Amino acid sequence: MAGVAVGGREEARLALEAAKRAFPVWSSMPAEERSEVLREAARLVRQRRDEIARLLTLEQGKPLKSSRSEVLSAADVLDYYAEEGKRNTGQWLAGPHSRSIVLWQPIGVAALITPWNYPVDLLSWKVAPCLAAGCTFVSKPPSLAPLAATEFVRAVSDAGLPAGAANVVHGPGGTAGAELVESPISRKIAFTGETATGRAVMAAAAARIKRISLELGGQSPFIVCADADLPAAAASAAHRAFSNMGQICVSVNRIYVADEVAEAFTDQLVSLAESLKIGDGMQPGVELGPMFSSQQREKTKEHVADALERGAELLAGGSEPEGEEFSRGFFFRPTVLGRADHSMRVMREETFGPVAPIMKFKSVQEAVALANDTEYGLAAYVYTGSLKTAMQVAEGLEAGGIGVNVNSVIDRQAPFGGWKQSGLGRELGRWGLEAYLETKHIRVGVWKE
Ligand code: NAD
Repeated sequence: MAGVAVGGREEARLALEAAKRAFPVWSSMPAEERSEVLREAARLVRQRRDEIARLLTLEQGKPLKSSRSEVLSAADVLDYYAEEGKRNTGQWLAGPHSRSIVLWQPIGVAALITPWNYPVDLLSWKVAPCLAAGCTFVSKPPSLAPLAATEFVRAVSDAGLPAGAANVVHGPGGTAGAELVESPISRKIAFTGETATGRAVMAAAAARIKRISLELGGQSPFIVCADADLPAAAASAAHRAFSNMGQICVSVNRIYVADEVAEAFTDQLVSLAESLKIGDGMQPGVELGPMFSSQQREKTKEHVADALERGAELLAGGSEPEGEEFSRGFFFRPTVLGRADHSMRVMREETFGPVAPIMKFKSVQEAVALANDTEYGLAAYVYTGSLKTAMQVAEGLEAGGIGVNVNSVIDRQAPFGGWKQSGLGRELGRWGLEAYLETKHIRVGVWKE
């Protein structure tokens, strides 16, 4: 058992005030010195990897190996921004009677609000550029998975930050989270979570025209063309649909497969789904742990039941695994559905569970139209052997990240974010740093001969 103090509006306000007091100290440090602190933070996170990863598996459910990778990835993000922060250079422009200097300066105090599916990694995407830019922050980890995120911030704070530069407040989104968004102290809101919550955050931030970044829900399509490398496509789809029990914003949610290869692809996906080892995430060799909560598992079951009622065919999974070892924990078998169509919730809503519905297509144009038939636009994937098809499909897909013959659209150096209802703004790369900077133009009159 572990516990955290539950904060509310007052605790959030106190934390914001601490961050405000620390801002002049941290923002006026040379970027080189801030970089050294971030490097030390990365070192401490790596040193405490096992302790943070253990907490992450115990509170979230993912296998220990995945938790360790998540913690190491967060350390890498800190290292990346230790360097990127040094590249915040200005511009100089010469006018006929003046000179213009353009600066990018830290916005001020940032509120960092994160979800439970990658509580450490997603927080690092905010903490690292925020600090590298010279901002201070108050973070609010997810209410049901606060431990690993808190230990991550503790490691960052131990690296030599001025007192009050890094803060954590625990508590419900509706009180502690809302105060972080509404308070006049926070100048920037970086939020990752559900689209519905993002809308509420955006509306509250509008009252003070705050700078916001929103990383919201997804409903990602995966297109398998007739000329695709089928074993690679099937392995890739299985991995991205089932890992972390499908509780990933860029998870594969809908598979569109060319008619002529549908049977072969489906057979391979089904056998991969059935071969994955489910169990306690603390045990070695386990590939899929339990789902995060009973609510998440119920929603997944409802989506599967809805699809079956509407004519889908159950090809794998669809229920809890049997056996004593699965009696505690929200386990669910990776599920493959055939004959899916767009009347089904699983094809339209974000299931956030390990379900891979398959629909056949006749032409690549049809596949792109089906892929875009959604209010979301976070990630989309295509597998094909043709460069021409790859480019045509990639340019036609409405999403912030397109994976061509690869099942991840995440690269620390590249922008990550959503189109349509999947978000606003970008994280990672130089775009992630810009999100914490304001532009200033200094115009200097020059004496004319
Ligand atoms: P959620 O929206 O329920 O909660 C996210 C965070 O917001 C939590 O810390 C919560 O306490 C807080 N919150 C809730 N109401 C708030 C309010 N009114 N004001 C301020 N803060 C508030 O999301 P979740 O269930 O924790 O996470 C799952 C969702 O996150 C999924 O929809 C998933 O797609 C999305 N997600 C998106 C990305 C991305 O990068 N686009 C990444 C991971 C997860």
